[in-house]
Amino acid sequence: MKGLVKTKRGAGNIELREVEEPRPGRNEVLIEVKAAGICGTDLHIKQDHSFYTPPVVLGHEYSGVVIETGSDVSEVQVGDRVVSPATAYCGQCYQCKTGHMNRCTAKNKRILGVSLANGGFAKFLTAPEYIIHQVPEDVPMDEAALAEPTACVVHGVVEMSPITVGDVVVIQGPGPMGLLSVQVAKAMGAGKVVVTGMSSDQWRMDIAMKTGADLTIDIQKDSDPVQTVKDETDGLGADVVIEASGAGPARRQALDFVKVAGHVALLGVQGKPTELNLDLMIEKELTMTGTWGTLPSSWATTLRLMGSGKLNLEPLITHRLSLDEWEKGFELMEQQRAIKVLFTRFE
Ligand SMILES: [Zn+2]
Ligand SMILES: [Zn+2]
Repeated sequence: MKGLVKTKRGAGNIELREVEEPRPGRNEVLIEVKAAGICGTDLHIKQDHSFYTPPVVLGHEYSGVVIETGSDVSEVQVGDRVVSPATAYCGQCYQCKTGHMNRCTAKNKRILGVSLANGGFAKFLTAPEYIIHQVPEDVPMDEAALAEPTACVVHGVVEMSPITVGDVVVIQGPGPMGLLSVQVAKAMGAGKVVVTGMSSDQWRMDIAMKTGADLTIDIQKDSDPVQTVKDETDGLGADVVIEASGAGPARRQALDFVKVAGHVALLGVQGKPTELNLDLMIEKELTMTGTWGTLPSSWATTLRLMGSGKLNLEPLITHRLSLDEWEKGFELMEQQRAIKVLFTRFE
């Protein structure tokens, strides 16, 4: 089969090449990939800016159908439509034992499509049974491939933020995480969702409006975005701000958007320190959460949410390509001309 391989360290070094078809180990299932999305992490690996172990078949946001099970697999069956997180957490380290599997510290743990385990940019992959989740019946496999980023948002927004019925929620940055946050916040009962972005984000803001946002603010055109948010909230400010851009100025603005005793949820990583006026946290009695990846519970909630029909993920899938068009797919993501690029055809 053909797999999209990061062949060695350094920028670039990605090749579509012949790789051996995987065989499931005793505790593993063999999955035929139906769809696999390009994620920011894949771009970082391409640029050599994040952790990975080459050579590795990339792709950790996938959906597929089980076509074979290892001898010790007990629950998952051939024919099951499945997804999984990338990380095969160890279950034994302090972080795992205290419920923080997303921060598992085991050395040499396998991360599908990243480290010591091939991912979904190929016709087949294997995954250990214990990380597998079933895709609800009515969810198309293309949309199921968005379960991973959705689960990240569910962890950050459902599990870590206090959004409740009627809240005004400001979401900064209409990228994939921001747009998913719009829908998740709405599903949680947010009364008004306001999305902020740059002028170049206009087409993404349009998607936000189509998928549940009530208002968008172009922070470059609006002379006083903080006042605009106040105008929308009887002068109070937002109950919850979700920072999904990872940009320093947005992080600073989050503390201005949020109301007294409000909450700021950080989803975006900037990769360098941000100067913030933390006196505002004290004066406004704010709470702030950071989140990283997903927990098993995030996946359970995500798939129930997807199965409930409350998410409209199709508008976020802007491109469907065959794996041999991978260069085009990466380019679309790098130039920020796509929300989600899915590979849906493999050989
Ligand atoms: Zn990802
Ligand atoms: Zn662990």
